[in-house]
Amino acid sequence: MRASGLFQRLGTVFSVAVIALLIGMITSAVYGWFFMSAALLFLIIHHTRHLIALEEWLLISDHTPSSIPSGSGAWNSIFAHLARYVRSQSKSQQLLDLELKQLQNVTAAMPDGMVILDDGDHIQWCDPVAEKHLGINLELDSGQQITNMVRQQSFVEYLTARKFNKPLVLKQMRHHRLTLLIQLVPYGKNQKLLISRDITSYERIETMRRDFVANISHELRTPLTVVNGYLEMLAAENSNDPEMQRFALAAMQEQAARMQRLVEDLLTLSRLENALNRLNESTVNIPSLLQELYQEAMSLSAGKHTIHLSINSDDLILGSREELRSAMGNLIINAIRYTPEGGEIDICWEVNNSKGMFYVRDTGVGIEPQHIPRLTERFYRVDNSRSRETGGTGLGLAIVKHVLNRHQARLKITSEVGKGSEFCIQFPGKRLIARSN
Ligand code: ADP
Repeated sequence: MRASGLFQRLGTVFSVAVIALLIGMITSAVYGWFFMSAALLFLIIHHTRHLIALEEWLLISDHTPSSIPSGSGAWNSIFAHLARYVRSQSKSQQLLDLELKQLQNVTAAMPDGMVILDDGDHIQWCDPVAEKHLGINLELDSGQQITNMVRQQSFVEYLTARKFNKPLVLKQMRHHRLTLLIQLVPYGKNQKLLISRDITSYERIETMRRDFVANISHELRTPLTVVNGYLEMLAAENSNDPEMQRFALAAMQEQAARMQRLVEDLLTLSRLENALNRLNESTVNIPSLLQELYQEAMSLSAGKHTIHLSINSDDLILGSREELRSAMGNLIINAIRYTPEGGEIDICWEVNNSKGMFYVRDTGVGIEPQHIPRLTERFYRVDNSRSRETGGTGLGLAIVKHVLNRHQARLKITSEVGKGSEFCIQFPGKRLIARSN
């Protein structure tokens, strides 16, 4: 193609020269030169016009094949080649754009943040997740040293130590209370990829696990210390006093019962928390369940309180009898434990606004408002000694909360110090079953 184009152009110049020579021979040399000059001038105008069109085209920003100027003569084939070239370029550009878009979609979908750092630890690029994690604004901060954005000493040391085989845990980031796992991956010529992962929820679970183990150890240590103390005393040679032995045995029994209650409550909690343990549903006759709990409350109170039971609805609940017994029983037992002698306790079941409502109201010690949101946390107690004196494990309301969650029910607590408390369970309408059904 290229050779034929060259021959075509040489042919044109050769033809002009031959025609000029012939004209010169036939007429006079002056006419030959004149013809030759006119022909060359025409060629110069022709090429200059096309060169200007080409330059104008080169200067525009959007180089599409349709924008290429049309040409005549040799320029026709030059512009056709150019159009083919632009077409193939735009095809590869489209492919590149598509791949880039896919890559951007993948990085946007990644839960991890990514920052590209150059050999001087300057930010070259980062994704939106990293912007959020590290408080970077790529538009403003591109080219900034990463240590200007992440100023924690541990991070600066991690970066300078250049031992990137281990990740770094960064707590309490500047902009928000995040805990991040940072990993630097070296690549290319001293470049680095910084990957940040939000591990705040893992951290919270880990803290909860640590607190839980510490709490259980603490709860078990006290009764074990008491039991050990009495055992040492009984083992001592001069411990033949039968009165003392009876006292020691009674105290050890009490502590053993306390440990047993704790273990039972822990097992109940773990059963309730196990996602695989599905709710064993049946139609629960709440009025008859409350009659049972009322009798138990009367014997636990042993005449120290006035206890009323009002059943204002015959409706039943779809749920687990065993779990509901434990939740409602816990609230009633708490009312007895935290109400001084002579106080009153009301137990009530009714349907209100298509919701099943179970209330336990007492005229007991009451709770200060700041404690109320935390009462269902494991081992949270307002008054440690009162809870322990009355045999509490600190897990009762945590069990109630789990049971209610499994029944899509809610617990509402209202209380006034010195006047008493009201614990109300609200069951959703979908769990109510009218007795006639
Ligand atoms: P505990 O075994 O300590 O009673 P719970 O989880 O049942 O544990 O209750 C948590 C805390 O809530 C108790 O320690 C107590 O301070 C408070 N509480 C629960 N019920 C009542 C109530 N009816 N009156 C006053 N305080 C209560």
